[in-house]
Amino acid sequence: MNEVDRQARNSQRLAELFPTFAVRVRGIIAELEGQGLRPRIQDAWRSPADQLKAYLSGHSNLKYGFHNVTGPNGEQESLAVDLLDDDYPAHEGSEYLLRLTGAAEARTCMTGIQWGLPLRLRAAIDQAIATSNWSAPVKIGWDPTHVQPADLTLAEARAGRRPA
Ligand SMILES: [Zn+2]
Repeated sequence: MNEVDRQARNSQRLAELFPTFAVRVRGIIAELEGQGLRPRIQDAWRSPADQLKAYLSGHSNLKYGFHNVTGPNGEQESLAVDLLDDDYPAHEGSEYLLRLTGAAEARTCMTGIQWGLPLRLRAAIDQAIATSNWSAPVKIGWDPTHVQPADLTLAEARAGRRPA
């Protein structure tokens, strides 16, 4: 994807996010771009039908997730993005994924980089990020490009709470 298309896609997808979460994601993207990376929002808001497809194909383990959040009138208020590396989409290296998680954690967000990993391997990821050791040889969990708020549970989001 060329630079103009990537920027246009990111702007369009950012509009599908709840505004306070969009500010965080914009900051994550800017930080990665400042490191010479080219993050691309693959998915932001997802319709219930698309979520069911993702669930049935094994790409998500939830029938309702942070991608599906809507406002009182059904407006898109997604609290999740999948942030691919446009230079290696779906083949992100651990360096990009560690940098992404570091930028996310600095903005009260988290990624799925640790999901499914035993404690010892999770600790190695925490250690790599704490020391900015982006080339550390770490094992990667099952949804590393997924970004969501770290200060809100799914149940709270569903009940109408939003990140401040
Ligand atoms: Zn996701």
